Amino acid sequence: MSQSSPLLTAIVLRYTDYGEADRIVHLLTKEHGQISAMVRGARTSTKKYSGLIDLGNMIEVEFSSMQRDLWIIKTAHGLQSMLRTRTNLHKLAFLSYACELVSMAAQAGNPEPKLFGLLSQLLKILEEEDGVVGSRFRIAFEIKLLSFAGYMPQLSVCPACQKKIHDPATIFYTEASVFHLSCLPSMESPQQSMTPCDVSWLRSCSMALRTPMLDSLSVPMPKGPQWAFAEIITRQYQKKIQSRTFLQSIEST
Ligand SMILES: [Zn+2]
Repeated sequence: MSQSSPLLTAIVLRYTDYGEADRIVHLLTKEHGQISAMVRGARTSTKKYSGLIDLGNMIEVEFSSMQRDLWIIKTAHGLQSMLRTRTNLHKLAFLSYACELVSMAAQAGNPEPKLFGLLSQLLKILEEEDGVVGSRFRIAFEIKLLSFAGYMPQLSVCPACQKKIHDPATIFYTEASVFHLSCLPSMESPQQSMTPCDVSWLRSCSMALRTPMLDSLSVPMPKGPQWAFAEIITRQYQKKIQSRTFLQSIEST
């Protein structure tokens, strides 16, 4: 790429400071999935970049060139910032969590229109809606993310006997599936790889998947393994979710 690129809309997933003045930013784009880009003077040119390169912000960028796998940003301007979200601790914790999950799931170099759509929708809701964030909202985001990344958890039919799930059931993280307790695979199944769940909880999860994100915003979940999908995501990408501890501590208060 030797000439300026067309303008791209991108969401800031994370960034790291580089050298004394620059910043390397990881962006989600519809067209190229996740990209890493250098913002020269991001920390010195306050007039140009003030508040722009921040978590969850949607920006419009033009790239001047590409060196190895690093894009070089020529110009950037803000389309949507997360100012209101940053004044609410729960929403802020959720913002970090959502950006981290997308950063784990989004591929580099491949278009990611579904993940881009999911994250933009979530950011808009966090920033514009007044409702409190309920646990079904997070679960809706986690299940949709898994399904868009091609790892849709099997929640209604037991993979062992092919029959409809009934109580008592167990969610098996490594298989991303729910089994009847009596049908659990005879293979070695360490306790930390599974947890009991019941049909009413599973029904609420399926509802979260099928309905728009906004419909789940302030909806609580029935009793159940509320972090099961985070466990599935951790195993799927073999990576610890750093921002989970903070969000979990806020959710439990
Ligand atoms: Zn079964």
